[in-house]
Parts: sequence; C-alpha cells; structure tokens
Amino acid sequence: MSTVETVKGPIDIDDMGITLMHEHIFTIGTEMRQNFPDYPDPWDEEQRVADAVAKVNAVYEKGVRTLVDPTVIGLGRYIPRIQRINEQVEMNIIAATGIYTYHEAPVQFHFTGPGRVFPKEVDPMTELFIGDIRNGIADTGVKAGLLKCAIDEYHLTTDVERVMRAVGQAHVETGTPITVHTHAADRTGLIALRVLGEEGVDLTKVVVGHSGDTTDTDYLRELADSGAVLGMDRFGIDTFSPFEDRVNTVVAMVDLGYTDSMVLSHDASCYSDFYSIEDVTTALPNWHFTHIHDDVLPALRERGVTDDQIETMMVHNPRKYFTKP
Ligand SMILES: [Zn+2]
Repeated sequence: MSTVETVKGPIDIDDMGITLMHEHIFTIGTEMRQNFPDYPDPWDEEQRVADAVAKVNAVYEKGVRTLVDPTVIGLGRYIPRIQRINEQVEMNIIAATGIYTYHEAPVQFHFTGPGRVFPKEVDPMTELFIGDIRNGIADTGVKAGLLKCAIDEYHLTTDVERVMRAVGQAHVETGTPITVHTHAADRTGLIALRVLGEEGVDLTKVVVGHSGDTTDTDYLRELADSGAVLGMDRFGIDTFSPFEDRVNTVVAMVDLGYTDSMVLSHDASCYSDFYSIEDVTTALPNWHFTHIHDDVLPALRERGVTDDQIETMMVHNPRKYFTKP
C-alpha cells in the first residue's frame, strides 16, 4: 500500500479522491501579523479559523477530498493553525516544505552553507527539508508531503538556484514530489526542469505550477514532454489570464493528448495578507475553492472534455504524482 502524509497523518493513496493540487489555507506573514496586526485587514484569529473551516467544508461538499497546500517558508507556514482547522473538517490537507522566494533566501541562511562564512558540506536547507519530511514539522507530528520552490520573472538568481537545488536534493533523498512556482510568460518552467534534472530529480514528480497562466501550447508541450505535470492551477485569477483562455488551453492540451499531464486548481487562499479582502474580492470574484466545480468543469464539458478525462486530471494524476517509487 502506498501512502501519502497529510496533516492528520498518513492516508492510503487511493483515499485521496478528487484533489485540488495547489491551494493555500493561509498565506500570511507571521512577523507582519505580530507587528502590523491591522494591515491590510484587522487580524482576528477566531474569525479567520471559522472562515477557513467554512470554505474548506464548502469545497468538500462539492466532492473534493484532498487539498494540497504548498505553503512553505516565505508564505507564513504555521502548522498548528492548520491542525486546528483540520480538526473541524473531514478534508485531507497535505502540507509542504521548502522555501518560497523570487530573489533571496531568508537571511537566516545567508551566512551558513556550502561556500559561506560558516561553510558546511551539506546545505542546511536540504537537511531542514528532509527533517520536515522524515521527522515532521516543528514538533507538530505533521510530516511534509511535498517540496516547493519558486522561479519567477527574475529567473535563476543565486538564491533561487540554491533553494531549487536543495529541494532537488531532498527529493532525491526521500522520493517526495515537488511543486515549483513558475512564471509562465517567461517560460521559467523550463529553467526549473533543467536545474532539477541536473540534481537527478524524477521529472514525473514535478508539478510546473502556474503553467495555466499561458496559452502557449508549444511551451506547455515542451514541459509535458519531459514527463513533468502541468499545473493548470490558477483558475479564478482572471487578471493573469482570463477564464476563457484558461479553459480553452486545457481543452487544447486535452485534444493534443496531454490529459495525463495536467492537474487543476485555483491557487486560492482562505485568507491572504497580500491584499485586503475588499480589494481581492472586488478584482477577482471567482478566486475561491469552488470555482472549478461551479464554473470550470461545466465549461470543459461543454467543450467536449469527458468525465473520464476530468477524473484523470483531478483524481488519477494527483494519485500518480504522490505515489512513491
Ligand atoms: Zn500558491
């Protein structure tokens, strides 16, 4: 039996069910919350937890059984709060380890590591990621089920590369799958696959996140032909790419024979302190956990995508990705 680690412990891979492969319960900055608790909205712990429970339950009622939450260092990962929410909902939530940065790693890593002021043979990042996977995250008992790194419009900065290689090494050591935040307009997914490939990563265990932000099917085919999984995972962020484009790109890739290479999600949060609630709900009214079931799946079916193909993208592909060799 193959298992996957969740916030409530390991589950049988066959029990993952319908899976949203990239959603956040929260993306918040702890240091900001502690020092500027009213920016951009007043922080009320009880209210935010109750709101998250309601939002997770709403998508559970649509049939979703697993949320993959790639909230890592840099996005405000705080597992005790996720555990508190998960105690009140049936949903499987998969936690992640890694570092989210477009530029520099946290300064806590600046002085220590290979070739640094305090030189170490193995990058402490790699050891911390492996510890989160094998021993659990910060004495919570929750083990990370996936690894995360990012490469955005600033491309492969020194520290972006350092984090990516550390993630790759932790994958090689543990077999844990990887998700990469990429900037599709700059085709940075290809850079990520090159670097991860150099580290010996099994590219079938890599989700190239935010691939659905582009309509460039040549780029998407090049990524998928490497074996990697395409994250069509920002449904609802219609400012980057409108609804019609996102839906039509999935349809085009299905028609080209890439159903086995795609996963669907929103990259939504129950709450994010990147913007005020008012700003984000006004600008992006569809950016929430049930948009795929409410709007995207009907639009895919209307354009000829079958229920079997939808099940492949929402059940089988996630299960295959999380199955360890
Ligand atoms: Zn995200």
